[in-house]
Amino acid sequence: MTGSSQTVRAGTGRAFTLAAGERIRIVNTHGGQVVDTWALCAPDGAEWLSMEHTRTSLSRLVPRLGDALYTNLRHPLLRLVEDTTGGVHDTVIAACDGERYRELGWDGAHANCCDNFRAALGELGIEHDPVPAPLNLFMDIPWSQDGTLEFRPSPAGPGQYVTLLAERDAVVVLSACPMDITPINGEGRTPSDVDVVLLGRS
Ligand SMILES: [Zn+2]
Repeated sequence: MTGSSQTVRAGTGRAFTLAAGERIRIVNTHGGQVVDTWALCAPDGAEWLSMEHTRTSLSRLVPRLGDALYTNLRHPLLRLVEDTTGGVHDTVIAACDGERYRELGWDGAHANCCDNFRAALGELGIEHDPVPAPLNLFMDIPWSQDGTLEFRPSPAGPGQYVTLLAERDAVVVLSACPMDITPINGEGRTPSDVDVVLLGRS
C-alpha cells in the first residue's frame, strides 16, 4: 500500500486535511514516541473529537481496533482501522502546555503540545480554544484499582503504527510530544520524529 508520506518533527505539530473515507497512518518511526492526536470536523472545527464522549460511547478508557471515535455531539468522526502496537494508548491525560513544564520544575519556555495544536491549526486559518483533550496515541498510562495513574515509557516499537479512517471530512492535528522530563517518550527522554502516511480511500 502506498501513499503520500510526511514527517512530523520531534516536538512539533502538523495538521492534515482528510476527506470522508480517507485514512491517515501515524508511524512510530523510531519507537517510544507519544503522539497527541486531535480531529476537528472540516472546515471550521465547530465540532471536534471528544475523548469524554468517546469513552462514554465505547464504555472503556482506550479505544480498540475497529472502534469509532466520537465528537462532542456524539457523531463518529474517526475510526481506528489498523493498530500494529499492543493497543496501548491513552485518553485521560491532558495535552502538555507551558504550565505543565513549570509544574515539573522547568524554568522558562518549553515547546508543548497545546502550542503545537494552535500553531498547526493557525496555518489553516482555524482557531480552536480551549485545546480539547487529545487521543494520546502510543502513550502508556496504566491505572490501578484505586484510580492511581502511572506515567510509563511508551512501549511502541520502531515502525509500529496506527491507521485512522475519517468517517467525515476532518482536520487531524498531530503533535510529536516534546515531553523530556517525565519518561513517557522513553527512558532516554528524547522526543523523536514520526512519519505520517496519507492513504486515501481503500
Ligand atoms: Zn505533549
